[in-house]
Amino acid sequence: MADKFDLIVIGAGPGGYVAAIRAAQLGLKTACVEKWIDKEGKTVHGGTCLNVGCIPSKALLEASHKFVEAQHDFDDMGIQAGDVSMDVKKMMARKDKIVKNLTGGIAGLFKANGVTALEGAGKVLSSKQVEVSKDGEKTVYEADNIVIASGSVPVEIPPTPLTEGLIVDSTGALEFDETPKRLGVIGAGVIGLELGSVWNRLGSEVTVLEAMDSFLPMVDQAVAKETQKLLKKQGLDIKLGARVTGSEIKDDEVVVKYADSEGDKEITFDKLIVCVGRRPYTQGLLGDDAGVKLDERGFIFVDDHCRTSVPGVYAIGDVVRGPMLAHKASEEGIMVADIVAGHKAEMNYDAIPSVIYTFPEVAWVGMNEQEAKAAGIEVKSGSFPFAASGRAMANNATEGMAKVITDAETDRVLGMHIVGQHAGEMIAQGVIAMEFGSSAEDLALTCYAHPTMSEAVHEAALAVDGHAIHMANRKKRK
Ligand code: FAD
Ligand code: AMP
Repeated sequence: MADKFDLIVIGAGPGGYVAAIRAAQLGLKTACVEKWIDKEGKTVHGGTCLNVGCIPSKALLEASHKFVEAQHDFDDMGIQAGDVSMDVKKMMARKDKIVKNLTGGIAGLFKANGVTALEGAGKVLSSKQVEVSKDGEKTVYEADNIVIASGSVPVEIPPTPLTEGLIVDSTGALEFDETPKRLGVIGAGVIGLELGSVWNRLGSEVTVLEAMDSFLPMVDQAVAKETQKLLKKQGLDIKLGARVTGSEIKDDEVVVKYADSEGDKEITFDKLIVCVGRRPYTQGLLGDDAGVKLDERGFIFVDDHCRTSVPGVYAIGDVVRGPMLAHKASEEGIMVADIVAGHKAEMNYDAIPSVIYTFPEVAWVGMNEQEAKAAGIEVKSGSFPFAASGRAMANNATEGMAKVITDAETDRVLGMHIVGQHAGEMIAQGVIAMEFGSSAEDLALTCYAHPTMSEAVHEAALAVDGHAIHMANRKKRK
């Protein structure tokens, strides 16, 4: 029998590595098991987020956005940049370097905080035993507590089986070494829109096939409609109500069959990205006697404090219910580490922000107007267009709007939905407002720096009562 720990975490993504660091900071003897192997055959930390998710996708989004700016916006500002071209291999090399820096940094953080990094695949044998296997060797470790943070993997669908270099998932779409001429994307969700945007900006003709009739149903429909309009203007051909039913590879091209309200259709692409969601990953994770229950969709079943069906065993992040987001995984990791260390801890699942890193960004927290109304709440809302913002004009970023949704009776902020440059940064205001139970009036009475994009949030809060300053006022102040 090998070492005994207070806590063993399985998985070193943003859920697991954060839980392990927090636990060690609180004085627990902690180990974190990871099985991810990079191209050089080394174990790497950071999970989906750092290796093939949040970070590499943002590196490509930023580079491709700058490419578009250099081509289309510089001239207007008086900048003569000459012929602008994109070296895709160099862009990819920069992305890989960022990933390497960050994943390597976690090993450093583990060392600094005294977390023992265990390399290999972890398996829960019982509430107090984890088996770690690597290269055919198995070691069993004892632990008073276990946190499962095994994450998720892309969903594959039978009509479009992955085919090397032609039909790929999100990971494959982060690795193209040249810009495809005709690119298909299945799924107009967050990942599909981000990856579609990257390659559209670099010159691909991008068609997004989405089975649902509605666009971004989780986003306030005023904001979603504006987003759809802006992405269409950029050249993304988003076909709603288009369900992919089959595919065929012909002469190194992908022929995709789909059905919409007019009947069966076909469309040919040079490459196809399948972005139809992610599923919880539990392969090889639970021994026969582990006793950890899954729910009907394959997620590990947990309560509000991430406790599984087995006392002392917790699960966090993408492998449990809730939005599949890195920051949600990390916050759950902190909550669980605190609980294991004997502290009281809670998560506020109502105030988790989401961001789509297109240009402009789309960001939201809490309810949208349609959801609030459907829940029987009497709603008030205020909106402000970036077209009326001085800073947005100076930034050449006048597209989009900010919207604040409140309870008409109490004025309490129920949600904030924004499409605009830096929306992902601005949404923190909505998150803090909701965490502190603020009213729209609290935001309206707050002094915002001028000139900032955030002033649009201030004006939207003022607009809840019809008193936006830089917009035609509809109401007289009582
Ligand atoms: P993961 O990050 O999936 O990590 C799980 C880890 O556990 C992995 O390293 C895996 O190897 C390891 N593991 C699994 N089983 C075992 C085992 N038995 N033994 C040992 N190790 C094991 N989210 C955002 O918030 N913002 C974004 O901008 C964003 N962009 C994204 C872009 C893309 C293209 C993708 C694919 C995802 C994106 N996400 C984003 C989602 C985000 O990556 C996930 O929500 C997040 O990584 C989940 O964290 P996790 O710790 O639960 O799981
Ligand atoms: P998300 O879960 O946010 O990543 O989004 C995935 C999207 O893929 C959802 O909007 C689904 O409706 C969409 N989708 C799933 N299966 C298909 C399909 N066969 N054809 C087209 N769209 C699909």
